[in-house]
Amino acid sequence: MRQTYLEVLESEAFREEYGRLLRDYVGRPSPLYPARRLSEKYGCTIYLKREDLNHTGAHKINNTIGQILLARRMGKRRIIAETGAGQHGVATATVCALMDMPCTVYMGKTDVERQHANVQKMEMLGATVTPVTSGNMTLKDATNEAIRHWCCHPSDTYYIIGSTVGPHPYPDMVARLQSVISEEIKRQLQEKEGRDYPDYLVACVGGGSNAAGTAYHYLDDERVGIVLAEAGGKGVCSGMSAATIRLGRKGIIHGACTLVMQNEDGQIEEPYSISAGLDYPGIGPMHAHLSHTKRATVLSVDDDEAVQAAFELTRLEGIIPALESAHALGALGKMRFKPEDIVVLTLSGRGDKDMDTYINAFAP
Ligand SMILES: *Cc1c(COP(=O)(O)O)cnc(C)c1O
Repeated sequence: MRQTYLEVLESEAFREEYGRLLRDYVGRPSPLYPARRLSEKYGCTIYLKREDLNHTGAHKINNTIGQILLARRMGKRRIIAETGAGQHGVATATVCALMDMPCTVYMGKTDVERQHANVQKMEMLGATVTPVTSGNMTLKDATNEAIRHWCCHPSDTYYIIGSTVGPHPYPDMVARLQSVISEEIKRQLQEKEGRDYPDYLVACVGGGSNAAGTAYHYLDDERVGIVLAEAGGKGVCSGMSAATIRLGRKGIIHGACTLVMQNEDGQIEEPYSISAGLDYPGIGPMHAHLSHTKRATVLSVDDDEAVQAAFELTRLEGIIPALESAHALGALGKMRFKPEDIVVLTLSGRGDKDMDTYINAFAP
């Protein structure tokens, strides 16, 4: 794969087919929405990049479509994937149905039980969901199992990873596939503002794929501030957090050298966040680098701050965001803006899947 992926991704035939599916199947370009009332609240101009309007409800489909096209060009016959909350599993099962390829999704047994609706979706789409019973039976363990299986079946099986994590070339490849987000932001800002860059980009980070896609074409543009919102959980120092960049130390996880939440013995610590899509104990190596070199500002947003931000967006703009995206919204209150600032915040997904959590937040 290491030898093939760049050649394929840059070929005319791939770009044509990928672009066509993003347009006709996913519904791209996703709108860049000027959020008027949210802007008034924060005293600047805020645009929302509406990845929540994509087919399957988040940015993840941009990546799974690209990878399954690569898998076919590599002559692979079956697809495997890992999933935590089930969002990446559903996005993978979706493209496997589309391309008529058998699909096995590894999912921690704990997650199988608490994310039952997504398990049912994957099964309806024709995928086999394999519960993983090692470790804490969550995302890290599902990823271990998927990598283990992939290593044993290298010739016929392609592993679709869900974020900018895992061994090379996955972090680079997933960032490239998600870079359609910043490609569109450039064009859309030029149209709406007469300049193709914002003052700030804001995105949440789990493994880092929607943030990587949002920042991709602006990485070398120092006029643009990059703000990454990670999940503080019940508080960064509470022992129940997923703020990997703040809490992590250099280590190796799933084949990548990056920041890892670990104890003194180097054992991986279980992350916690109210949002199931943000609780990975590692982070994309690119994001660790952006933080280390101070190219990106990293803010941690706690559970209650995220829930509050989700309600705020819902009441101000009539948009119910995913809990993950609500962490990016929660970062706005921790930033200082000038009235002329232009901010683009990536709304990575929609909140349908999080209704139980939101409803419980109403309870006394
Ligand atoms: C999975 C998910 C995320 C986190 O993944 P990244 O790779 O960090 O983007 C964020 N938002 C939504 C809606 C998700 O489903």
